[in-house]
This record gives sequence, structure tokens and C-alpha cells, in this order.
Amino acid sequence: MRGLWREFAGLVLPVGCAGCGRPRTELCEECARSLCAEGGQAAGRRRGPRRVRPSPAPPGLPRVYAAAAYADAVRAILLAHKERGALVLAAPLGRALAGAVRGLRPGSGPLLLIPVPSAPRAVAGRGHDPVRRIALAAARELRRGGTGARVLAALRQRRTVIDQAGLGARQRQLNLAGALEVVGGGGRLLRDGRVVLVDDLMTTGASLAEAARAVGEAGGRVAGAAVVAASPSAFEINWN
Ligand SMILES: [Zn+2]
Repeated sequence: MRGLWREFAGLVLPVGCAGCGRPRTELCEECARSLCAEGGQAAGRRRGPRRVRPSPAPPGLPRVYAAAAYADAVRAILLAHKERGALVLAAPLGRALAGAVRGLRPGSGPLLLIPVPSAPRAVAGRGHDPVRRIALAAARELRRGGTGARVLAALRQRRTVIDQAGLGARQRQLNLAGALEVVGGGGRLLRDGRVVLVDDLMTTGASLAEAARAVGEAGGRVAGAAVVAASPSAFEINWN
């Protein structure tokens, strides 16, 4: 009952740090650092945005950079934003995503951040579109740093896909194949810059591969993809 009450209270009042529960803060400094510890050093592993790759990688997956591994505080923060509507977290999550976009080095010229769309039903159920909100915060952060960037919500689901949770890599690929399309008129806008696909989380990479296919088919130039977090196993490849 107490847990339930805390969940409910969290909808209207911050009950503590979204990452670790420490009281009287929406996000403590330590958990904020776990999201974007650029250049820092922890547990012998370089932290900050890194290139990630799931194994197996789906065909057509572009280069992907992630700000952090999906575990512990990072996982808790993403869930608080997505499922509990802790919208104040969009700013720090956007900064983390902007770091991943910079890590990608997408080249000069204006950047078009294209969010991987959620199912319309999920957006309606949550009352907000978490990935789009994080993307908007990331674009603001990039512009503050002198990089021309804007969000282009160019993709939509053209058919219903089943919930990805519980599906394996191959099943996710099949579930998503041909599921996305560029919205009417979006193809023209795609030519205004380099496309960076953005999402909150990469697990198997199936959604990003499908998004890259849809954007490429509509004539967009995909420079790569950036996510806030990726499965810890996707960090294991040594790119040297
Ligand atoms: Zn914390």
C-alpha cells in the first residue's frame, strides 16, 4: 500500500531523486552524472557517450551512440520520465541525448533529430510522448552549443505493432519490418539536413534499423542514431 501511495504521489509531487530515491530533489547530482559523465572515469571504464552495437545487429542498423548503459539509476530515471510522467527529467535526459549526438560526429550542417515514434496508443495512455520531449530538449541543448539542430517528427507507425517487451531480437525485427513510414510531405523536409535518429533506449536495435530504412527510402541522409541508454551488453564491443 505504501509503495502504491508513493507511486501515486509521484504523479503530482516529486518524492525524491528519480534515480536513487534521495529525498528533496528530483534528480541528485550523482544520478545526473550517471546520465552524462562525459570524460569521467568510473570502475575502470571510460564513461560518457560511446558507440554501441547489439549482438546480433539487425541489418541496416546505422552507427549508434549511447550516453549511458541501461541499468540502475539511468533505468530508474528513464522509467520515471516515461511511465510516471516526471517531465522535469526531460531536460537532463535531453542533455544526455545531446552528448550522444555529439559523440556520433554527424558532420556539419543542420541536424534533423527524428524521434523513433511510439505507438499512438502508448502515447495516449501515458499522456505524453517521452521520446519527442527528450528530443526537443536535446535540440535546444545542441543549439546552445552552436550546432544547428531541430526535431522533425517525420516518422509514424503505418500499422499496429505488438508490444516489443518479451520478444527476442529476430521476433522484434519481424514485428517491426515495414512498420514505419515518413509522414506525407516529410520527404521534402528530410532534404534540409543530416538525419540523426533518436530514441530513449536501444535494446535489439530493431526500431532504429526500421527507422533508418523508412527515412532512407524517403530520400533522407541518415548520419547515425543517438540514444540516451543502451543495453549494457551493447557496450561490450571494442571498436579500436
Ligand atoms: Zn540520485
